[in-house]
Amino acid sequence: MRRRWLFGDQLGPQFLDDPDQPVLMIEAHRVLRRRAFHRQKAHLVLSAMRHRAAELGDRVTYLVTDTYREGLAQVDEPLDVLQPTSWEALHLVDRLAAERDIERLPARGYATSRADFTAWADARGGRRLLMEDFYRDARIRLDVLMEGAEPVGGRWNYDAENREKPPRTRTLGLPEPSWPVEDEIDAQVREDLDRLEREGVRFVGEDGRRRFAVTRAEALNALDDFVQHRLATFGRYEDAILREDRWMSHSMLSAPVNLGLLDPLEEVDAAVEAYRAGEAPINAVEGFVRQVIGWRDYIWHLYWYLGEDYRDRNALGAHRDVPGWFVDLDPSGTDAACLSSALTSVREDGWAHHIPRLMVLSNYALLQGWSPQQMTDWFHRSFVDGYDWVMVPNVIGMSQHADGGVLATKPYAGGGNYINTMSDHCGTCVYDPKQRLGEKACPFTAGYWMFLHRNRERFARNHRMARSVSALDQLAHLDVLVAENPELA
Ligand code: SF4
Repeated sequence: MRRRWLFGDQLGPQFLDDPDQPVLMIEAHRVLRRRAFHRQKAHLVLSAMRHRAAELGDRVTYLVTDTYREGLAQVDEPLDVLQPTSWEALHLVDRLAAERDIERLPARGYATSRADFTAWADARGGRRLLMEDFYRDARIRLDVLMEGAEPVGGRWNYDAENREKPPRTRTLGLPEPSWPVEDEIDAQVREDLDRLEREGVRFVGEDGRRRFAVTRAEALNALDDFVQHRLATFGRYEDAILREDRWMSHSMLSAPVNLGLLDPLEEVDAAVEAYRAGEAPINAVEGFVRQVIGWRDYIWHLYWYLGEDYRDRNALGAHRDVPGWFVDLDPSGTDAACLSSALTSVREDGWAHHIPRLMVLSNYALLQGWSPQQMTDWFHRSFVDGYDWVMVPNVIGMSQHADGGVLATKPYAGGGNYINTMSDHCGTCVYDPKQRLGEKACPFTAGYWMFLHRNRERFARNHRMARSVSALDQLAHLDVLVAENPELA
């Protein structure tokens, strides 16, 4: 059996062919010198790799080096490797395989195989690759939440029940998530990262207690905790934001599943079992299943299917630099309560749930005309669950509309009224979500109209945006708005 070279996001048992397979792991530090990652993200990945190595014991050769190439030079035996998760790592593996005996194997860790995705996409015959169609195909193919040929409950989609406004309480009143307990490996990682910082390596964000799983046992505990305590209310408030309840009913399983510590189908099975046992309603379970075997796999496959140059797209010509306060996760750089809160969450935990990510952080970047490439890099570096394959389609396609409509037929742009409806931020803000002019003008509301104004010609041709463009045509004092926001014109 060949020694398996495992990357830092291939850490679960499913990435080995046999529990006794010999393993090579390389902790290559050059990547940390090249880009400023969130301190907690660096901690999470190193801690997870070292915990896995400790479990594997003498079956693993664990090397700490500057580059992968340096590590491989120390190992003189045939290797095999599963397809890595970025174009850059794939090219590296291809180059190395041309130089030495490395067998390249298909990727693992996703519910749909690349062959099944390609077959599905090719069968579309040029029609749009819609997530909803892919998701239904996956439900049938994987037999998840199905009753014969029909979806359980008679409907494929419960989104309409999963968009409730936040309750009028400060929190959902759920128990605090079951956080992992740090150990001596974490202490060593912390010491090593402190040393790297003293040597000049730059991180963003705060160091803090580790909140996300780094072992299989911790990941299973996190899954169990979610299913027991938060799944039942996951759907209902999925799209809401509560200022004082950062976690709400979210699973927070994206970090362990993206490290390879959980298999997506095992997450889905646990949620479906809770539904069958009457412990969680269909709208919650379907919403979760949709995120895991729908959205996550769809994004993974599009990353490869759309090609390497997809990341360079900038259909809206958004070329402004992301400002330093945002890059450095400094909430004092803005007076906007929603934005400051979302940045604080990323600063403190390297995490925010999908609505602050999409409707606050990404929406703001879109309205401001910030570079989608810089935003992709920012999300990748700043979030504990961010990887190239996750962020390229999510940012270029989903949130910044930089692909011109391949992933989403209309841009996810919204004004202050949306945030006011779906969060409890606006009451505490110096701005007024209804105002687009003057001192109290909400930057989201003013920014939304300026975004439409700036892209008027393009959106006039998009039938899903036509109503917004005609509302812009009726807008009073557009000249004043433009004069107050010359940088967004
Ligand atoms: Fe955010 Fe505008 Fe509401 Fe302030 S008023 S919290 S900036 S949406």
